[in-house]
Amino acid sequence: MNADELITLAGSNDKPRTRERMQEIGIIRNGGLAIKDGTIVSVGKTPDITRDFKAEDVANANGKIVMPGFVDPHTHLVFAGSREEEFQLRIEGVSYVEILRAGGDIMRTVRETRRASIEKLVDYGTETLDSMLEHGTTTVEAKSGYGLATKDEMKMLEAMQRLNQLHSVDLVPTFLGANAIPPEFVDNPEDYVKLVTEEMIPKVTEKRLAEFCDVSCEKGAFSLEQTRRILTAGKNHGLKPRLHADEMNQLGGAELAAGIGATSADHLLFASDEGMKAMAEKGVVATLLPAAAFSLMRGRYADARTMINLGVPVALGTDFNPNCWVENQQCVIALACHMMKLTPSEAITATTINAAHAISRAKEIGSLEVGKKADVTVLDVPNHKFLGYRFGVNLVDKVVKNGRIVFDRDAVRSQVRLLEDHEM
Ligand code: ZN
Repeated sequence: MNADELITLAGSNDKPRTRERMQEIGIIRNGGLAIKDGTIVSVGKTPDITRDFKAEDVANANGKIVMPGFVDPHTHLVFAGSREEEFQLRIEGVSYVEILRAGGDIMRTVRETRRASIEKLVDYGTETLDSMLEHGTTTVEAKSGYGLATKDEMKMLEAMQRLNQLHSVDLVPTFLGANAIPPEFVDNPEDYVKLVTEEMIPKVTEKRLAEFCDVSCEKGAFSLEQTRRILTAGKNHGLKPRLHADEMNQLGGAELAAGIGATSADHLLFASDEGMKAMAEKGVVATLLPAAAFSLMRGRYADARTMINLGVPVALGTDFNPNCWVENQQCVIALACHMMKLTPSEAITATTINAAHAISRAKEIGSLEVGKKADVTVLDVPNHKFLGYRFGVNLVDKVVKNGRIVFDRDAVRSQVRLLEDHEM
């Protein structure tokens, strides 16, 4: 109740927001909402809500903004190990190939993930989800792709299924068996494509472990033609297509995404104008990942302004992975504003309702509207223009998931103060 700004993002459940509509975030001043059994039952001005509803618990958001919980539409949530040594090498300017030769890069994560038990993966994933939730994220897409062998890909997806049951953050699982070509197949990558399409996809879908099929379409990973084959096989088994496209080179990933009817194409640093136009026409969401571009240290970012001008719906995600270790969508908003010139309003749209569209969840989440899940984030700032502007700290005051307060900064801070009093 009494929110300085209640940001609804209402009215885009069928189609993502594009062009100037990305600026419209549906602000209600002195706003409030009523929640019953985990669902939003009323949204409006505080006096109207308090007149119509009597609640057991009332949370006051005076001086704060209330918005939909962030949706993170691109994460590699589950993995073992870390790659801080490689980070140091990247700073020193050591090339990708040399890092690979030194046993670094993605294959290090694959080795460690293959060695890890499912219980360990669930433990690591829980820590990450805790952190994401504390930073205001209530739903995440999560990919497999560090197993690169049937049993290990299944293990990753099963870990995600357990996390989805155990944790209050909701997961949307994506099968990314075609993340990279594993060492056992470097000499015959076609055999690996066969394994993905003929063995992994049927097994994954039989056990209902994934909703999407993703491919890393890139030089050194999977060609355009292989990507098309894998996504088509996924589609034939009921997996919706999405892809890592045009991140390092212009391969035509954006065009392929439009042609195959992908829900989302991600990265797009080198997407062609034709590709972007085709995506706009087909309504493919461009999920941009500025934190990934930042950690590449090449100074190049996706051309978000051109995409918005062309009518491509833009979403933003963390790309959380061992090479881009960021759980925080507020940090992604800051990067999007500073490096891709999104306005705070556009970045809010891109991390809520458009992000929900990027993972086919726009009917349930991504906006504050009657009938939607009560996934709500309260930020301790006086207005939405502080997002991206005040960065490097967590602005979250409270997080509500399915109508329940699951994170409360005041509770954490009062504990800290109690401890301090004790010591004195
Ligand atoms: Zn990725």
